[in-house]
Amino acid sequence: MNPLLQDLEKILVSEDAIKKRIDELGIEITRDYLNAGVQELTIVAITNGAIIFTADLLRKIPLRTRLDCVRVSSYQDETKPIGEPQIIDNIRLNIHGRHVLMIDDILDTGRTCSKIVHALKTKNPATIKTCMLLDKKGRREVAFEADYVGFKIPNEFVVGYGLDFAENYRSLPCIGVVKAELQNPPEWT
Ligand code: 5GP
Ligand code: MG
Repeated sequence: MNPLLQDLEKILVSEDAIKKRIDELGIEITRDYLNAGVQELTIVAITNGAIIFTADLLRKIPLRTRLDCVRVSSYQDETKPIGEPQIIDNIRLNIHGRHVLMIDDILDTGRTCSKIVHALKTKNPATIKTCMLLDKKGRREVAFEADYVGFKIPNEFVVGYGLDFAENYRSLPCIGVVKAELQNPPEWT
């Protein structure tokens, strides 16, 4: 057994459920673009959280794809945002006139995604769509809906499959909630 699993209070989305949903998303996304006459996509992944999801999803989209990343900072070593998300590293590819699919791990307040979509739009892509692995719907502070969502989840801080807590747990194959005593060690309070 993966020893990291012992740190979880519960699993919200299993490895099998993630695999199945990624297959479905790949089919849906491919079909939508082909129906719109689009055969080449530029994927923009938000690092680090979206890396694992992007790697798996990309291989289920049999279109020509270009890949670039945006690095954003909004969380430091805790479970609460430290403020407005900042773009600390932008894309290198030219997306003028291109079809962009932005991929991120989780939609929470909506601030990160709306900021990045806004920044990408200033580069004049032909279209821009968004795909989120997870959506914590009750938490939105900025109006933002993703075009594709893997799973809607309740308002809990989750880790695994790319999502971290203080840079740990990204390698977990499932998505879960870390035990409360590990999230808030007594020495922090
Ligand atoms: P938003 O800007 O929508 O509030 O937050 C989006 C970003 O916050 C995500 O890309 C992710 O990095 C981080 N985030 C939000 N909720 C969670 C969570 O439950 N777990 C983890 N690990 N990161 C989260
Ligand atoms: Mg993120």
